[in-house]
Amino acid sequence: MDLIQRIRCSNCGNYGQRRYLQHKKTIQTSCSNCDYYMEIGSETGKVIEAYAPGIYFRVDSLQTAVNSIAV
Ligand SMILES: [Zn+2]
Repeated sequence: MDLIQRIRCSNCGNYGQRRYLQHKKTIQTSCSNCDYYMEIGSETGKVIEAYAPGIYFRVDSLQTAVNSIAV
């Protein structure tokens, strides 16, 4: 049976959901407040799919900052 846990979203801090899918051997973490989504292998610990607008934005702006220092 799949287990569903209520968790705090690591992206926005609101309540999200964590699902332990035993048939797929994955753990899905999702938040409807900020569109955060992450799926990892429950045995391997590897990220299968991840989506979070805020996190991608932060990575982009960090790279822009590094580029402007290099120039
Ligand atoms: Zn969130």
